[in-house]
Amino acid sequence: MNVADSELIDGILQHEGYKQTQNIDEANAIFINTCSVRDHAEAKVHSRLGNFNRIKKNKPEVIIGMLGCMAQNLKEEILENKPYVDIVLGPDSYRKLPAILKNRLKEQKHIVDTKLSRFEVYDGLFPSRKEGINAWVSIMRGCDKFCTFCIVPFTRGRERSRSPKSIIQEVEQAVNNGFVEVTLLGQNVNSYKYDNIDFTDLLKKVSAIPGLLRLRYTSPHPNDVNEKLLEVMAESENICNSIHFPLQAGSDRTLKRMNRRYTKKHFLKYAKKIHDIIPGVGISTDIIVGFPGETEKDFQETLEVMDIVKFDSAYTFKYSSRPYTKAIEYDNHIDEDVKKDRLDRLIKLQKKHSLFRNRAMINQVVDVLVEKVSKKSDEYWSGRTDSNKWVVFQKSTANIKDIIPVRITAAHGVTLKGQIEGK
Ligand code: SAH
Ligand code: SF4
Repeated sequence: MNVADSELIDGILQHEGYKQTQNIDEANAIFINTCSVRDHAEAKVHSRLGNFNRIKKNKPEVIIGMLGCMAQNLKEEILENKPYVDIVLGPDSYRKLPAILKNRLKEQKHIVDTKLSRFEVYDGLFPSRKEGINAWVSIMRGCDKFCTFCIVPFTRGRERSRSPKSIIQEVEQAVNNGFVEVTLLGQNVNSYKYDNIDFTDLLKKVSAIPGLLRLRYTSPHPNDVNEKLLEVMAESENICNSIHFPLQAGSDRTLKRMNRRYTKKHFLKYAKKIHDIIPGVGISTDIIVGFPGETEKDFQETLEVMDIVKFDSAYTFKYSSRPYTKAIEYDNHIDEDVKKDRLDRLIKLQKKHSLFRNRAMINQVVDVLVEKVSKKSDEYWSGRTDSNKWVVFQKSTANIKDIIPVRITAAHGVTLKGQIEGK
């Protein structure tokens, strides 16, 4: 999400004639795009801002801007404690950046705009992308789900979908610029609705764009995953057999207190459908440990769901209290050492499951999109399977952006080793 927003901001500024520099000391303006989802991300931004302050001390005319969710969330604190930050813009205000920059050059006063919009989807503005394989394309913004741990509905505002026409135009442009994979992005992609077009309809339309080799999306909400979506994924050649299916917690008591609006039973039923309907699918997930009031028994239920589903990979988090959210008011916040212990146990189990899933691929021949030279050696390529796993294999004749058959020969940790089939 943040990469996509940064590319959009870069696109807006380049359109006005501004250029990026690789050397921060040469910059006339420095922007940091921020995320508020967990406090850890915020801590990193505070430290980066400290560095920018040091640059500004040597070069007082440099403009410093803080953009995105943290700007939305912490504007008062920033204005009070970090007077060297000149511009504070929330996630719905990027369009104003060129005008603000022009005024700022004249007026020298702080500019803050964090008003959230019910309509802004940045239609008609195109991100500036570095060359590469995958283009992130935002299809909707905001979120209306209000999970009780999550700050997103407060920092990114109400859910709104972008028109299929403008999404298709952006994907076509990306393909014309040499991108072969697109990932459709949104906080809840499958809540997408524009007139009578739903997410599955959109996915079908985008997958029909000539030259698009692979189509991915993230993140769906488990409540909005349905059989129609899974069948379209299974039938389509270029929609990848990979799904992010965020569990968050395994016990119904915790799920209810999180306001996730699904039960353990519903989640397991759909995890099974995903495996049954989409052959060779890879499932990733998000899990939070130590949500307020989570007992050892609740936590065991999370491990139990993991044991049944055996996710291919998981992003795992310790609960962190976020402003504005309901969970902050809940009783029984969990001690840090208990959270850490649960996280360690969860990660250990996930490693076992990732290895189990990866080992099951040994000897299979899978299609791999060649993406880059491997870090291991110049003689090896690194590419991803349809199911979103990295594979390293000897280069031979293949080129970057080719999709080639690779036989999986070994699985260690998260990366697979392979050999181009037929060699
Ligand atoms: N819209 C996506 C998630 C966006 S935030 C979804 O519903 O899946 C990405 C992930 O950060 C969440 O899935 C959650 O696991 C984690 N997260 C969000 N708020 C958090 C918090 N307060 N503490 C710890 N993890 C959190
Ligand atoms: Fe946050 Fe829940 Fe919305 Fe995801 S669905 S962005 S976790 S409120």
